[in-house]
Amino acid sequence: MADIGLVGLGVMGANLALNMAEKGYSVAVFNRTTEKTDAFIANAGSLAERLTPCKTLTELAEAVEPPRPVVIMVKAGEAVDSQADILAGHLAQGDILIDAGNANFHDTRRRVKEFADRGIDFLGVGVSGGEEGARHGPSVMAGGKPEAWARVEKIFNDIAAKFEGESCAALVGPEGAGHFVKTIHNGIEYADMQMIAEIYGIMRDGLGMAPAEMAEVFDQWNNGPLKSYLIEITAAVLGTTDPKTGGPLVDIILDTAGQKGTGRWSVIEAQDLGSPATVIEAAVAARSLSSQKEQRVADEALFGAAPRKIGPALGDRNSAMIILEEAMLAGKIAAYAQGFAVMAKASESFGWDLPLGTVAKIWRAGCIIRSAFLDDIASTYEADGAIRSLMTVEPFTGMLKATHGSLRRVCAEASLKGVPVLALGSALGYFDFARTARSTADLTQAQRDFFGAHGFERLDEPGKVAHGPWSNA
Ligand code: NDP
Repeated sequence: MADIGLVGLGVMGANLALNMAEKGYSVAVFNRTTEKTDAFIANAGSLAERLTPCKTLTELAEAVEPPRPVVIMVKAGEAVDSQADILAGHLAQGDILIDAGNANFHDTRRRVKEFADRGIDFLGVGVSGGEEGARHGPSVMAGGKPEAWARVEKIFNDIAAKFEGESCAALVGPEGAGHFVKTIHNGIEYADMQMIAEIYGIMRDGLGMAPAEMAEVFDQWNNGPLKSYLIEITAAVLGTTDPKTGGPLVDIILDTAGQKGTGRWSVIEAQDLGSPATVIEAAVAARSLSSQKEQRVADEALFGAAPRKIGPALGDRNSAMIILEEAMLAGKIAAYAQGFAVMAKASESFGWDLPLGTVAKIWRAGCIIRSAFLDDIASTYEADGAIRSLMTVEPFTGMLKATHGSLRRVCAEASLKGVPVLALGSALGYFDFARTARSTADLTQAQRDFFGAHGFERLDEPGKVAHGPWSNA
């Protein structure tokens, strides 16, 4: 009998099943569209002997050795509910349903409760790393009961990415915690990608660099503090030639970015928790603005194109590249500080006790935001899980002190010439606000009292609600 069942043979499910089979597990597989199951088995090569194709969910439940773990890897939302509901009808006490898709953590919380009432453990497991990660080693963020996780932990440890021999799979908390952590991972991914895109915009439009030149710079940066998968693939993308035209491929790609929702969810949760994630918010907004292509074309005609040429304002080419690298690093520190602060707030609000050091550790390999930088974050949170903000602890404080000047110069020069820096500008604004002891909220409080009698606190009478002698009062 099979060790595990897997429902959904799309991009992720098919690769996860092959990964499990390769690690020696026998996997019973099912897909709504049967032809996909047949094609999957036909293309599985020698791994097919460890794969049991099933035509129905009943067949799948019968093919797995009890107590049965069954992974559901289908489109998030209603599809998960429908497949889980049918499956549950064939499962018994002690079986485990594992939703490994990108679920909204609110749905996971609900499902955990619903299935607990039916005697079935439900794990919400975030899986990151795309197609390649699923096939050869993803980062795995699990949420659920420790006893349930203990029963499938070995399988996930075996298929997960390894960082210096350590598995990038872990139980991060109860119920929806795994999917929440995955959501914030994706939010940070949006922020990283948008800041890289803005630096690319400055290089391309502000400094007139060709894709091949930019590829070299990103390649060099991949040996420094920015070393990461996203910087590596940026270099590869910029160095790729279009086989049809012979020119740089990036130049013929339509400039509208897609999104599936996890970035937006991370911003919604950040707002709900009152933990500002301005860089992630800007990155999500930038994708939405990018999709409004027609309006942007019309507005460029209406207002005229910005000059965009930054010229020598950032110094010679070498100096400019150093300034851009430092600006990206400063922005990255702000973005990660925001993402980790949102997780800390969620941990407190939902009583999850999220191990942020472990979260950073399992993001060091396998996932899309994997980077050298996360190793420092992991050590920081392992040393003290209760830090207030990543920006306020070493080595990040020192890095920010050394680089925020470059972020400021980049944002200033880009803004003067009309090169959009939505995410980098948000990182700078966040940093400047965060270190302003006397903010301008005194005026906001006065306005709120003026129009709504909301009251304010006087500096000379702390703890008391005061009102102004407004003329409309
Ligand atoms: P695909 O689009 O490749 O496959 C979708 C799968 O869902 C197919 O097996 C499809 O079956 C099934 N499905 C869709 N609707 C239903 C339904 N109503 N009932 C039953 N089955 C249904 O998706 P991915 O593999 O890319 O994604 C799967 C999950 O993993 C999603 O939650 C996604 O967000 C998440 N994810 C994706 C990543 C990626 O890089 N692609 C990375 C990390 C997570 P059928 O063949 O019959 O249509």
